[in-house]
Amino acid sequence: MTVYESYLEANQPRFLAELLDFLRIPSISAIPAHAADVQRAAEWVAARVTDAGLEHAQILPTGGHPVVYADWLHAPGRPTVLIYGHFDVQPVDPVSLWTHPPFEPHVEGGRVYARGASDDKGNMLVPILALEAMLRAEGRLPVNIKVFFEGQEEIGSPQIGAFLPRHKELFACDLVVNADGGQYSETEPEILLALRGGCGVQIDVKAAKMDLHSGLYGGVVMNPIHALVMILASMRASDGVITVEGFYDDVLPLSPEDRARIAAVPFDVEALKADLQIHDTFSEAGYTPREASWARPTLEVNGIWGGFQDEGIKTVLPSSMIVFGMCFE
Ligand SMILES: [Zn+2]
Repeated sequence: MTVYESYLEANQPRFLAELLDFLRIPSISAIPAHAADVQRAAEWVAARVTDAGLEHAQILPTGGHPVVYADWLHAPGRPTVLIYGHFDVQPVDPVSLWTHPPFEPHVEGGRVYARGASDDKGNMLVPILALEAMLRAEGRLPVNIKVFFEGQEEIGSPQIGAFLPRHKELFACDLVVNADGGQYSETEPEILLALRGGCGVQIDVKAAKMDLHSGLYGGVVMNPIHALVMILASMRASDGVITVEGFYDDVLPLSPEDRARIAAVPFDVEALKADLQIHDTFSEAGYTPREASWARPTLEVNGIWGGFQDEGIKTVLPSSMIVFGMCFE
């Protein structure tokens, strides 16, 4: 065992306690009432990277949730590696489905359960601990290091596009390592070569100026729920092909080599079905589930709201209808 490996081994209990502390911060970027928690998470990260031995830690304003920068630049002539991660988390609804409160981490069977444990607080802490172990054990790193940890990944990083060009020099590097990912399995590591990006749209369908009695106006006025169902149905054929005009225009076709490489990666579709409790997978016609997930765009409805939502029935013909959707390309 190398010196840094024994350092990691010896400090496991402390590292776990730190992860649990980090997970207790409810840094939900999507909910404005949690903005101070996202800031608190940024402060936690800035302090932690400094403890690890990185220098020049700073919390940079973005106009939205902040970015944490730090570096260790004492390997002249060596490449500069930038490590990316994010300390914000997704909302926790529906809360009733959590067996333990989402921000009170629960350790069971060697696993940590909490919001953000695997996306991305646990993952982004790993390189920090690795850097600390190498710096403590060997006093140096083999390359120059910069970190870029952000607090707005889960909402699509709205301010980062304008933020980065303003800090071009600060974040200049030779290679970016993304610590926002997982392992293929507990025994199989993986290197991701690309990820799909997301693009969100909201469709509001508006009909009459107010809700109407369906006994009186049903069949007389267009019902926005029915209109929306027709709009949504028109976007996707029953074989999974997206029918929005121009949707596939810039999508590169998969070459036979690409397909062979994707097929060569171990994948157990039966295990996936059992895990998700589904009878079958559903992919764009002509593509395997892996090809669909790794190399094809999709269009998904993420939320839908309209009409009467309570128990029972109400004879209402709603005035408006909303759908939240997102395509991943
Ligand atoms: Zn993530």
